[in-house]
Amino acid sequence: MNGLNGVAVHLDDLRRTFGAVPALDGLDLHIEPGELVALLGPSGCGKTTALRVLAGLEDADSGRVLVDGKDITGLPANRRDMGMVFQAYSLFPHLTALQNVQFGLKLRRRAGGDRAAAMLDLVGISSHAGRYPHQLSGGQQQRVALARALAIEPQVLLLDEPLSALDAKVRVQLRDEIRRIQTEVGTTTLFVTHDQEEALAVADRVGVMRDGRLEQLAAPAEVYLRPASAFVADFVGLSNRLPGHVDGDTVTVLGARLPLVRPGATGPRVTALVRPESVGVVPDPDGAGRVLSTAFLGPTSRVTVEVGDSVVVAQVSGELLGRLPVGSPVRLDLRPVPVTLEE
Ligand code: ATP
Repeated sequence: MNGLNGVAVHLDDLRRTFGAVPALDGLDLHIEPGELVALLGPSGCGKTTALRVLAGLEDADSGRVLVDGKDITGLPANRRDMGMVFQAYSLFPHLTALQNVQFGLKLRRRAGGDRAAAMLDLVGISSHAGRYPHQLSGGQQQRVALARALAIEPQVLLLDEPLSALDAKVRVQLRDEIRRIQTEVGTTTLFVTHDQEEALAVADRVGVMRDGRLEQLAAPAEVYLRPASAFVADFVGLSNRLPGHVDGDTVTVLGARLPLVRPGATGPRVTALVRPESVGVVPDPDGAGRVLSTAFLGPTSRVTVEVGDSVVVAQVSGELLGRLPVGSPVRLDLRPVPVTLEE
């Protein structure tokens, strides 16, 4: 995070209802200067509405938007100092890459030439400056869109599913590039996505939304390892739901005593959410488990094991998978990493 150029953003108790649907239901979100916050959540949880209210493209029914300490709630979008990149390529088809970037600068009556070229350089696409959008790949077009958004030196950068239309490899490349560029320019950024891996990879903090409000806002590792709720644990990463028995600060699952992320007063019989990567699978002729199915997924592969009444998914190395044929007996070793309980 580079707070040099960034400003603080405050979304304060935002509410927005569409008919009977509360898209935002008291959303509070504070983004630090220069920080990149990814808003993550299932379809319809209000991510895009939050971004649009911050952009001024949507009015909230109530609540306030503050940027750099100033209340801009009533300010129209064109008077807010924000750069935007959307999912759909939004370049002007009759302008070259360079002209697209210059266009934004002209609108703001700023000198275009050098800065536009420098921005194309920043996003790694200066060799394509003279090309029209139809001569660029999806990833290249999004790089130009990013250059155009940053050229105006916005106070805030808004990215609404900017990678969703790209194929997997380009997505990862551009995701890493966005992180690099954002760190370099230090612009406070809100990045909306429904892809958990993307959110974890790109953000300083991830805000997990549910039904129009934040369920948790924390660093990626915190959200993953110490989810605030079963909803977060379930949405961010895969989890097995396994019966357990709470005893003090621990829960016993499949014979293993595991620490709790949040020890609390839940009843003794619970459902524990156990990550596949916390489950070790050991070939064992005397093991109580049986391999139900396997899936080779490259470096980390997946095996499904039946043990008693439970079906457990485990993540194993592709190498180990070869020693776990379907039907073979296995023993499960649950690693003692903290687990979350279903509410
Ligand atoms: P997605 O990932 O599918 O884009 P989202 O989390 O971005 O979802 P929003 O687009 O913010 O969710 O929508 C939140 C809720 O508000 C949804 O139930 C949606 O149907 C509703 N909604 C959003 N915009 C409008 C609108 N203009 N008119 C009516 N309902 C709307």
